[in-house]
Amino acid sequence: MWRGCVLSIVLLACAPEEESPVVSAGMEPLTNVIDIHGHHGTLRTDYGQYDITTESFLSVLSASQVKWVVVSNLDGASVEGGADVQQSAANAATSKLVREHPSRVRGLLWAKPNEGTPSELIPFTSERLPDGSRVFVGVKLHPDWQSVSAADTSIDGYMAVCRAAGLTMMIHTDVSSPLSHPEKVFDLGKRFPDVPIVLYHMGFFGEHEVAMEVVRRATAEGSANLYLETSSASAEDILAAIRQVGAERVLFGSDVPYFGALHYAIYGSILETLRSALPPAEYALVTHGNAQRLLGLE
Ligand SMILES: [Zn+2]
Repeated sequence: MWRGCVLSIVLLACAPEEESPVVSAGMEPLTNVIDIHGHHGTLRTDYGQYDITTESFLSVLSASQVKWVVVSNLDGASVEGGADVQQSAANAATSKLVREHPSRVRGLLWAKPNEGTPSELIPFTSERLPDGSRVFVGVKLHPDWQSVSAADTSIDGYMAVCRAAGLTMMIHTDVSSPLSHPEKVFDLGKRFPDVPIVLYHMGFFGEHEVAMEVVRRATAEGSANLYLETSSASAEDILAAIRQVGAERVLFGSDVPYFGALHYAIYGSILETLRSALPPAEYALVTHGNAQRLLGLE
């Protein structure tokens, strides 16, 4: 979520030239797509450009055809200008949002190892909707915003919560940060090889090779259960990731509603490139099959 201005220039270069509807002529509808990286809350934005509030999220969601979006509450983030509410308050708000939109939204529990405890998350892990499905399908950790290394032993309790509840851990990664570097996530993953961990942004901003190599090594050794997520990566980078780690290790995510009204037009264009380049079975894994398997979404 940071260095957003520069990132926006990169991604907007991929956007259609005209103000386009969510699905342009000739584009595949997004009706099967699961987006594993979304946010809600009251944070206006970092860098003053984008509105990433709950209202913005719901407006982008209702204008899109995406099947599922998995969201966490940025009000939990200990970030400048953010609400920085306690873990339980942040996650109660996510629970409420999921219950209001049960056919399209599922939650991630916001982790605050710098001030909260893993046990505070436990009551949320068993929350169910009337149809018996889970309200929360994973835990979200942002090491930079919570000022903690992904490899720190204070994360172990959160990983234990994931293991006990069968949840996936999603971690913001950034090759330029000593806290959220992919190698730090690898260190954590080696202590919990039975817990799936998704590296959000696959290392962030144009330098995805390190994250790809970490996931390739972890998978080859069987030493950690790591996956890559696509937000902030170009179609070219995503295709390179799939070649390196295999389609079963890459999941579509977009950081919705980062780009506001244009959000899924931008990502729809990236998905269209992937669809034309990949065998149908691999495209299906990246856009929904892996998320269905890992997060228990239908
Ligand atoms: Zn994010």
